[in-house]
Order: sequence, then C-alpha cells, then structure tokens
Amino acid sequence: MTQPPVTQPPDQPAAQPSNHGGPVDGTSPWADDGFATKAIHAGQEPEERTGAVAVPIFQTSTYAQDQVGITRAGYDYSRAGNPTRTALEEALSALENGRHTAAFASGMAAADAALRALLRPGDHLIIPIDAYGGTFRLIDKIAVPWGVSYTAVPLGDTGAVRAALRPETKLIWCETPTNPLLGIADIAALADIAHGAPGGAKLLVDNTFATAYLQQPLELGADVVLHSTTKYIGGHSDVIGGSLTTADDEIGEQFAFHAKSMGGVAGPFDSWLTLRGVKTLAVRMDRHCDNAEQIVELLTENPKVGTVYYPGLPEHPGHQVAARQMRRFGGMVSFRVRGGQEEAVKICSRTRLFTLGESLGGVESLIEVPALMTHMSVAGSELEVPADLIRISVGIEDIDDLMTDLADALA
Ligand SMILES: *Cc1c(COP(=O)(O)O)cnc(C)c1O
Repeated sequence: MTQPPVTQPPDQPAAQPSNHGGPVDGTSPWADDGFATKAIHAGQEPEERTGAVAVPIFQTSTYAQDQVGITRAGYDYSRAGNPTRTALEEALSALENGRHTAAFASGMAAADAALRALLRPGDHLIIPIDAYGGTFRLIDKIAVPWGVSYTAVPLGDTGAVRAALRPETKLIWCETPTNPLLGIADIAALADIAHGAPGGAKLLVDNTFATAYLQQPLELGADVVLHSTTKYIGGHSDVIGGSLTTADDEIGEQFAFHAKSMGGVAGPFDSWLTLRGVKTLAVRMDRHCDNAEQIVELLTENPKVGTVYYPGLPEHPGHQVAARQMRRFGGMVSFRVRGGQEEAVKICSRTRLFTLGESLGGVESLIEVPALMTHMSVAGSELEVPADLIRISVGIEDIDDLMTDLADALA
C-alpha cells in the first residue's frame, strides 16, 4: 500500500519546514534544565502526517513494509518498538538527562530486565536494607535461584557499602528516598564506590519516590535510573508501568534487547496514559511537596505520633545529603504511632479523604500500614519494617481538607 500524495490547496504556499514543537536544525528549543518544557515537548512533536498535537495511540501490533525488510519509520513489530512508546521513552530520556530509555509494562518488569542485563549468574549485588518489598522479592526469589547473590546494607552508611563489596560485585542497587522509611543514600558517593569496586560495578538508582523533577541520578554519576512510572510519573493511579534510563550507549542497547527479548514492554495505551502524566509532573510534584511539608508539621506536633520519617526534617539523618541532591523532599511521609499496630490500623480506618490503599504518587492522598500491606513480603527478613508504621502518599487536594482529615483520624 502506498501513501496518498499530500496535496496543498492551490491558494496556499507550500509548507515551509517549521520548528513548531520540534527541532529541525538539530538544536532543542529548551534549556538543558528546562524541565517543565521538556516534560511537555520532548519526544512529543506534533505528529508528522496530521499535525495532531497529542501523540497518537498507535494501537497496532505490526507495520506494513514497503519491500521485504524496508520499513517506513523503523518499526516492524510492536514488541520491538511502537511510536507511542518511543514518545514516552524520549520524554523520559530528556527528563533524566539520559540518552536511552526502555519503557516496560511495570516497574518490576523494568527491574527484572535491569538485573538480567547488568548481571550474570555468579555475580553479586548490594541492595538497600529497606528496599521496596517487590524489589526484594524479585531479587531474593527470582534472581538468587538464577544464580546471583546479594548483601542487604543500609545504603546511607557508605562504610557498610564498601565493606560489602566483593570481587564479583557488579551492581549497587540504590533507592533514595527509600520505601517506606524514607532513608537517604548519597548517590554521588555510591557512584564512586561502585566505579572503584574491584570488579567494576554499576550503580542503579530507583528514582520512583523523587522523580527526575526532584533528583537527577545520572547527573550525580549513576549508570541507570529505574522508575515505577505507575507512581508520580503516571500520577493518576490509572496505569502500571516502568522504565530504565541510561546515558551509556552499550547499556541502552542491552535494555532495548532485553525488553524486546523478554517482552515485558509498555503497551501503546499505557504509554499514552503515562505520557499524559509526564506533562504535568513538575506542577504536581511542587504541590505534593507543598502539601507534604504541612502534613509533616501537623504530625510532628501530634502526641499520638512517634518518629516522623521525612528527609526535609533537619533531624532526619539523611537531611544534609537530601538537601544537596534533591530539589525538594517529596510527597511521601511515614510515621510511627504510639499505641502500636492496632492503633495504626484504627487510624487508617478513620480517614475519609486519605484512601486506604497500596501504591503512591497519584493525585489522591493514600494511607496504609506497610507491615500488613505493601511490605508483607519482607516480614521475618532483615528488611522487616516497624509494625506500627503508617505510610502516607500526600496528594494534591486542598491542604486544609487533608489536614482536617488526618487530625480527625489521629484524635
Ligand atoms: C511501586 C514500586 C516499584 C514497582 O513498580 P510496579 O510498577 O508496581 O511494578 C519499584 N520501586 C519502588 C520504589 C516502588 O514504589
């Protein structure tokens, strides 16, 4: 099949190349640190044939070839590549100041691909003592039987990280801030440790809690950034997704190869929903941070509340490092409840705006008890979380309503 010829109405001059929404001369119409502009425009030029401003959902599995092996735009099958997914991948690369992104069907699919691409059986990796539960399960139950070994370390303690290095250590897996205890690791220091390791290790940073708006791990020396785009990047609790971004061409090629070979790629509609979220990431994150700061103030003054975990608090052990490597401190807050788990469960059942549920990073506020919900899989392990811990994902509702709701639940 051939394209119908594009004709110009006779009374109109032939179209001139324009750079509306897209570079034509190889330069970008945004500054390197123009985050909000990149979020809306990078990878999202108006569609060539129709000028559609919103990236179309290319809901197709396959693509017509003009001759055997000759494709129109490099696409031959949507597991290997799809234009809607490409748009998301280019946007995420721009936001992280990387060069290559692979978008996956979930954060865990991205994590799995990262482990397979960066490790071989026999290798060793270092993981955070308070890693996301699903990450811990993937490594402990899937990667270990595959043949790798790991050491769980508090990543805020660089001495402990150094002590855990072995000749076969090939990867440091970092989360900062961590889920659910908001621990902070020094990304630049970990990059130095990884790159100076006897076996030459890589540093991967799970940037899900901070997002590229608050923290740019590649700029700090990390080799790979992982996202559960399900959270802040999607931002509306309506899609599951994940991504891997790198500035290294060889690693980028490995990720694309693993995505295509293992097949856990993001579908066109999921990519489109995620891309729609990306556009408002900067404004949403600022509101998440504004609201979280006020919620933290309320919590620290409440007699029912024990320790409050928020990297913006000066007494937080990682505060200095967080202040150096983050733009702001994020929308996630955890706290311990005087009265134990029973009381924590009661508080979660009393909120009316904070919805009791897993996940985080959406526009709506969520509340949960990690030990009984998101972090069940680490019960009994060295990664176990306090039983009386409550984690909240502070949404972007009116702050007064959120304050009233939480204060009432704590009363
Ligand atoms: C949710 C989450 C993941 C897993 O992502 P999914 O999209 O749920 O598969 C990984 N890391 C962190 C920090 C998360 O919060």
